[in-house]
Amino acid sequence: MSTRPGPVPPPPVPPAPRPADGRSPHGLRPLLPSPVQEVREPAFERYGVRLLLKRDDLIHPDIPGNKWRKLAPVLAEADSRTVVTFGGAWSNHLRATAAAGRLLGFPTVGVVRGEELAGRPLNASLARCRADGMRLVFISRARYRMKADPRVGAELVAEAAGSGPARVVPEGGSDHAAVRACAVLGEELAALRETTPVAAVACGTGGTLAGLAAGLAPEQEAVGVAVLKGGFLGAEVAAHQRGAFGGPRGRWTVEDGFHHGGYARTSPELETFAAAFEERHGLALERAYVAKLLHGLASLTAGGRFRRGTAVAAVITGRPFPTA
Ligand SMILES: *Cc1c(COP(=O)(O)O)cnc(C)c1O
Repeated sequence: MSTRPGPVPPPPVPPAPRPADGRSPHGLRPLLPSPVQEVREPAFERYGVRLLLKRDDLIHPDIPGNKWRKLAPVLAEADSRTVVTFGGAWSNHLRATAAAGRLLGFPTVGVVRGEELAGRPLNASLARCRADGMRLVFISRARYRMKADPRVGAELVAEAAGSGPARVVPEGGSDHAAVRACAVLGEELAALRETTPVAAVACGTGGTLAGLAAGLAPEQEAVGVAVLKGGFLGAEVAAHQRGAFGGPRGRWTVEDGFHHGGYARTSPELETFAAAFEERHGLALERAYVAKLLHGLASLTAGGRFRRGTAVAAVITGRPFPTA
């Protein structure tokens, strides 16, 4: 064998193409760092603003986007404990957790908001969870709201996992370890610090924004677009940073004007924007978060929030489900 310095080895083989049913042919090989792609979008170009897409939706076919990033600590530690977590009937987090359990061989239980769902046929999202081996426990909305109360939480976990060892992951996956894991997203974007001063992400629990902002370079800023109504997300992001890092990190703001009526609500304006974007760029937009992020950024751009010449990296945190 020659020890002479040879040519630089070729880059790693990209993941195999995804079969039509969306199942992973390659176990848990994530596409990280996720790719960045610039798109020419008139809603931004008109104002001299560049739009980059940080394609976290491509990280893994079954555990996409920020759900991979937030579950990374669970994936790294996967053992025989039952992972117990929480979500609504269409929760991206429940599906990602169920898929992780199937791929890594740990049991999963999903505590689902809405006991009325127990007596009905499962929707496509919950059916996917069950097909991936997740046990579903349906509880009333009142009880679900109280799950943060330690006594109620302990009862729910006992019901869900029995007396065996359990790892409890909160709704949306945003525990301290998950927020710290999202700092890696910021670090990947910090590599673009010379050209890209702004990174933007949609906020549900705000855990992803909290981590992202912590990982950016000091000269960069993070913008969160809230998809829930109520104006409470800024406080949530600050609390996530206190819990995960012991105090505030990085520069970030939450924009509260682009929720279109609240979680999973839409508006004709949002729909028109999303359909035109999909048509122009051949990228299907997840509606609850990603479409609101891009529409919110377009509105902020039109309102003069970003100087001419600014490049904004929008994190594509997930894919539509079910896929067309
Ligand atoms: C869960 C989710 C979010 C929200 O992330 P948080 O960390 O809860 O703010 C954003 N986008 C997509 C596609 C999601 O599934």
